[in-house]
Amino acid sequence: MTHETYDVIVAGGGSAGVGAAIASAETGARTLLVEKYNCLGGASTMRNVVTYCGLYSLGETPEIVVGGVAARVMEELTRRNAVTGPHRHRGVYVVFDPETVKLVLDKLCREAGVEVLMGGFVVGAERQNDRVSSLTVADHSGLRKFRAGAFVDCTGEGDLLAQSGADTRYGNGHDVNLGTLGTRFGGIPAEVEVTAIDIATAVGQLGPNRKKVTKDKSVVTRLPFSHDLVCYVASYDYDPRDAASMSGAEENGRQQAWIYLDAIRSIPGCAGAYLVSTGPEFGTRESRHLQSQRMFRWDDVLERRSFDDCIALGAWGAEWHNREDFSSTLDIPPGGASYQIPMSCLTSRNTSNLFAAGRLADGDKLGGAAIRVMGTAFATGQASGVAAAQMSVNGGALNIDALRKTLGAQGAILA
Ligand SMILES: Cc1cc2nc3c(=O)[nH]c(=O)nc-3n(C[C@H](O)[C@H](O)[C@H](O)COP(=O)(O)OP(=O)(O)OC[C@H]3O[C@@H](n4cnc5c(N)ncnc54)[C@H](O)[C@@H]3O)c2cc1C
Repeated sequence: MTHETYDVIVAGGGSAGVGAAIASAETGARTLLVEKYNCLGGASTMRNVVTYCGLYSLGETPEIVVGGVAARVMEELTRRNAVTGPHRHRGVYVVFDPETVKLVLDKLCREAGVEVLMGGFVVGAERQNDRVSSLTVADHSGLRKFRAGAFVDCTGEGDLLAQSGADTRYGNGHDVNLGTLGTRFGGIPAEVEVTAIDIATAVGQLGPNRKKVTKDKSVVTRLPFSHDLVCYVASYDYDPRDAASMSGAEENGRQQAWIYLDAIRSIPGCAGAYLVSTGPEFGTRESRHLQSQRMFRWDDVLERRSFDDCIALGAWGAEWHNREDFSSTLDIPPGGASYQIPMSCLTSRNTSNLFAAGRLADGDKLGGAAIRVMGTAFATGQASGVAAAQMSVNGGALNIDALRKTLGAQGAILA
């Protein structure tokens, strides 16, 4: 095994990981981003999740609440006409073209000086006392070991946390948000409007096949350029940490997708619909969480709590998808206002040089369900990246004032 040394290593190149790696590299820290697939973007490019939530507050007049790396991504997408919105349906979100997202994330990482390793699976980590010292990456040449002064886990599954011996937990006891396979349909003319109610009605009329599918309600979006329709309906109760369980979900989800296609073809104007893609990977909403210095709670939102260590604003509501009956709820923050997210929920309680962001952030059932979305993941990622860089380069404890100052200089919105 070779041993290369970095200031910061970020595991996982989804929205959170890209936010973390760019922010870290821009402080001058030598930064490695390790991603198991061969493109960046995570759910946005590998799971047909094509709507950024969390960028706008949900009140009567939506305000932008996430800047920094997310703002630059939006700027690049807008310049290429690859994003539409903001749209309002339950919440406020934008819809993007996933192929353009791949291009833009590559570009922004390259320009920031991030060293990106695609096709590298983080399979192990070592610790010395209360610190992670190295992680191990598997690729087609075998195993390679990388050292760093600080690490950020943005894998969504918490692989680095678990392998390095950091405290984690799976979901929140009995409560684990349901997984759903994002499904993309083509062949529907742009002028044919298909609503969530149309899909629910068509699913209700499936006959005996209705029993073989799960959800009937979903956000329905149309992509820029192709006008392909994307929805999140085929669901399954599985454990994403276990490949055997995951395999069952993938196979069943694909079977459901073909039945949903039948339903969509029955909607007026949609007879020529076809399946463009499933996933390719099943969409896991919740897996492990970091056990942090302080869990973020939905009560923090309801009570409009402010934090001295606020490093980002959240805006999305507590979006819960039930594993037992496949129902969904979205609790909106009071007045649709934004809320503060503290650094403490991204900081490991037992591993001093380890942070986590995105859907790994430490939240209770509804708090975690609110701050996991991609707009917010860019922001928690950015904060973790700067924190890791600061810790690696300067050593010692985290300096919150310096962290907030750097985030502000990078365009992050903190108030
Ligand atoms: C069906 C569904 C619908 C959703 N709808 C929306 C929506 O409309 N809008 C919204 O904003 N959010 C939505 N979400 C939530 C959102 O997709 C996630 O919460 C968000 O992507 C979290 O970002 P992340 O960067 O933490 O994780 P991810 O996007 O999951 O990225 C994690 C990355 O880490 C990589 N990785 C994992 N393990 C390893 C490893 N061991 N080594 C190396 N790399 C690894 C993965 O390949 C991936 O690229 C939805 C989620 C689902 C499942």
